[in-house]
Amino acid sequence: MIEFINVNKTYTNNIKALQNINLKINQGEFVAIIGLSGAGKSTLLRCINRMHDITSGKIMMNQVEVNAIRGSDVRKLRKRVGMIFQSFNLITRTTVLKNVLVSFVPELTLWRKVTGVFTKGQKIKALTALDQVGILDKAYVRVNQLSGGQQQRVALARTLAQNPEIILADEPIASLDPVTSRHVMDDLKRINQAMNISVIMNIHHVEIALEYANRIIGVREGQIIFDGNSTEVTPVV
Ligand code: ADP
Ligand code: ADP
Repeated sequence: MIEFINVNKTYTNNIKALQNINLKINQGEFVAIIGLSGAGKSTLLRCINRMHDITSGKIMMNQVEVNAIRGSDVRKLRKRVGMIFQSFNLITRTTVLKNVLVSFVPELTLWRKVTGVFTKGQKIKALTALDQVGILDKAYVRVNQLSGGQQQRVALARTLAQNPEIILADEPIASLDPVTSRHVMDDLKRINQAMNISVIMNIHHVEIALEYANRIIGVREGQIIFDGNSTEVTPVV
């Protein structure tokens, strides 16, 4: 469903973050991208949902060339491809439910997002997503009263409310303690298996990557140096 064909990404400072990447990822895969800091993992992920533009080559998503789409179609792409981050990217002073609801009106200003009027259908979708990650009981709690793990689940619910086909997770557990990290990884795994949503995750914990992902892609200096089944990897990478 996602294919990278000879993809290069050079930043304006001349750093070649991706060099000749060729890659195919099928629907339902759980992929971990591993590599040292600065290897290009984050760039690779962010080119899929057009947070970054590539310099040359092609990224195809189900017959659509990701870099050829324009305007409101980029917004549609980002609904199909949800993303969660190390730093959660939530509005911390408002409720959990409102943070999930903002995903329905991303083009409005922050204030309007928070005070916006939402349809009953949108509320049901948001509450369902919160239920799917086990924090329905926190719907009316302010985000800044939650633990890091709970906040990451809010972020996950916000992407789920859009019925994504893919979730990109950029170091989703890097700021969480080991126990909470496992809760978030368990959520991702369950969502991947039960809902057939592909997960593509950057992670520097190799053991966790091997335990949860079906496929490991190793990146070094902008190039893929390993791509295989997690059972083929010995944790030396
Ligand atoms: P990783 O996620 O593996 O840590 P990144 O994709 O963030 O790697 O970065 C790859 C390389 O590109 C690094 O050398 C980084 O400094 C550089 N880089 C990342 N983002 C930018 C940017 N916006 N502008 C210029 N260089 C960048
Ligand atoms: P991340 O949260 O992905 O780890 P970083 O902390 O590496 O992001 O970088 C923060 C921001 O700075 C990002 O937008 C990234 O693209 C950009 N950036 C990272 N490295 C460089 C660089 N060498 N030159 C310019 N911008 C960079």
